[in-house]
Amino acid sequence: MKVAIVTGAGRGIGRSIATALSKDGYSLVLNYRSNVTELEQFVSEIGADAILVKGDIRNFEDAEELVKSAVTHYGRLDLLVNNAGITKDTLLLRMSEDDFDTVTSTNLKGTFNCTKHAAKVMFKQRSGAIVNISSVVGITGNIGQSNYAASKAGVIGFTKAVARELAPRGVRVNAVAPGFIATQMTDVIHEDIKKATLSNIPMGKFGEAEDVANLVLFLASEKAKYITGQVVQVDGGMAM
Ligand code: NAP
Repeated sequence: MKVAIVTGAGRGIGRSIATALSKDGYSLVLNYRSNVTELEQFVSEIGADAILVKGDIRNFEDAEELVKSAVTHYGRLDLLVNNAGITKDTLLLRMSEDDFDTVTSTNLKGTFNCTKHAAKVMFKQRSGAIVNISSVVGITGNIGQSNYAASKAGVIGFTKAVARELAPRGVRVNAVAPGFIATQMTDVIHEDIKKATLSNIPMGKFGEAEDVANLVLFLASEKAKYITGQVVQVDGGMAM
């Protein structure tokens, strides 16, 4: 049995990751913050072996509960995918303290919260994999996203530090940096900005959530058994 936690599994990339993992035989612990009905429907549609755990990843105790649920229900934990994330885009001069805090506490602190609890279990187990969803924006920066870029760059540094700490115990930690993926997160972006972004993507199209999910599945698998501390871009060549 292989057991995976996916945070923010209710929609978008998280949902695609859950689908790919389920198809690959994983039992799933799916974290959500809102809309359980939609998530229940999705789980039954794909016929996944899954438990659904409500929680806000910004909250240390919620993250602890999430990891505990996996161990209580399935007795082990093989994979943590830190996927949940948000944007609150605006130029620095207009950015409120709350815009900065909310984004960093979700994307970076949330990743710390879940990783900290999962690592304890994997450390004892002497096996496991963690995949953190960062962003190309964490590598290149982007106008209007100083909060988001800081959080996703933080995730990259965090990934490398934790990869070094956990490697001797057989736990691998990697980050995925998607470019522009069509989801509800990017739906809200103004058409002019979408057009300008598209013109900077050598492959000439936006990515699909499935493109990210396939990479996560690979990094989680035995095929990636000698890969740790890496940041792998899935961006159609957007940032090279
Ligand atoms: P999305 O459609 O907005 O989905 C984000 C998910 O995260 C939602 O299910 C949301 O749940 C959940 N979430 C947000 N805050 C949470 C919290 N505090 N606790 C628990 N769950 C929370 O976004 P997406 O495009 O699938 O993005 C998924 C990840 O990929 C994010 O980390 C994002 O930064 C990253 N990414 C996306 C792109 C892209 O182009 N789409 C590019 C690079 C990186 P609720 O709806 O209940 O809040």
